[in-house]
Amino acid sequence: MKIAVLRERATGESRVSASPETVKKFLSLGAVVTVESGAGVTASISDDEYRAAGAEVTDSAVAGADIILGVQGPEVEQLSGANPGAWIVASLDPFTKRERVDAYAAAGFEALAMEFMPRITRAQSMDILSSQSNLAGYKAVLVAASHYGRAFPMMMTAAGTVSAAKCFVMGVGVAGLQAIATARRLGAQVSATDVRSATKEQIQSLGAKPIFVENVAGIEGEGAGGYATEMSEEYQKAQAELVSSHIAKQDIVITTALIPGRPAPRLISDAQIATMKPGSVIFDLAVASGGNVEGSVADQVVEKHGVKIVGYSNTPAHLPADASALFSRNLYNFLSAFWDKEQGKPVLDEEIGTAIRLTQGGKVVNERLLA
Ligand code: NAD
Repeated sequence: MKIAVLRERATGESRVSASPETVKKFLSLGAVVTVESGAGVTASISDDEYRAAGAEVTDSAVAGADIILGVQGPEVEQLSGANPGAWIVASLDPFTKRERVDAYAAAGFEALAMEFMPRITRAQSMDILSSQSNLAGYKAVLVAASHYGRAFPMMMTAAGTVSAAKCFVMGVGVAGLQAIATARRLGAQVSATDVRSATKEQIQSLGAKPIFVENVAGIEGEGAGGYATEMSEEYQKAQAELVSSHIAKQDIVITTALIPGRPAPRLISDAQIATMKPGSVIFDLAVASGGNVEGSVADQVVEKHGVKIVGYSNTPAHLPADASALFSRNLYNFLSAFWDKEQGKPVLDEEIGTAIRLTQGGKVVNERLLA
């Protein structure tokens, strides 16, 4: 069983899908690991560290590979020489990169989309969305703080008092919870909102204030698999009114709202930005999925009405070392959980296999893509 680790080709991608630690663990399962030369450089991992862990470092890592690991999905041309039916294990962005999924099928690969991992307890340690969102939520607050011309904590100095920043987090999934915790640690006064009522208690437990639409029902409990869906027009209107009255008093806004398989919901309009104080900062974590904020542009600082709007197309790539370490562990936890000692290779079960498998036997097989 040969596992190949790719060097990422996508612009701005600085992460890598295996670390020296996970290389060693794969070897102890009985696999051989080849790493493409330079794969870890942008994540501060040298070729020598991979060699010391027991990997072969080469320019032709995919030759004869049975499993190919990536952070983002590779182009099919990169995979020539891999074994027939080889697994591609990465974040494959199946809805926007549908043609590439078709190409994997045509080339006979079995593509496994790690972002389709079901939100079930036993798969938590394999969940790339969680591990990467957690770091992204942290980074969003730090970036917003660095663009903010004032301090976050209240400071009493001999020259007078600096008041605490007010920070509003919209969307309280994994990234939002970490954003709340980070902004609190920096000393901001934090409030937060979500459509899922289950998040209210989580917000309070982090010492932040919940701001919720009360007159129209949101999503009770955790919703399907913990995810949000598109809200009714009535809810959206009530939410817009609530946001309008709250946002004008905020210095920092972090938006994280996503709906799987759909464009991100629009949460902040240009008119609402105009009510904010000049010098305020908005970080739109959803910018790569269409954006929660009107006017946000990926990887640019846009200034509207004196408010800076920031958002990265790939936030975890701005913390490449930690993001790679966690991503690599997610992939190892996944493959090792299904490792069949007798066959010397992983064998997926029905529940997780069906959820993440995009292609098999020359065809696209995933229900979410066929629907
Ligand atoms: P996500 O990235 O899909 O969305 C971010 C947040 O935005 C969510 O909380 C969502 O409810 C919210 N949102 C969507 N539309 C909104 C709107 N119009 N206004 C305000 N907020 C809006 O979410 P996520 O971080 O992937 O987490 C989703 C859920 O999955 C959470 O309940 C999380 O605890 C759960 N989860 C479970 C597991 C597991 O058990 N394996 C792993 C990770 C996350």
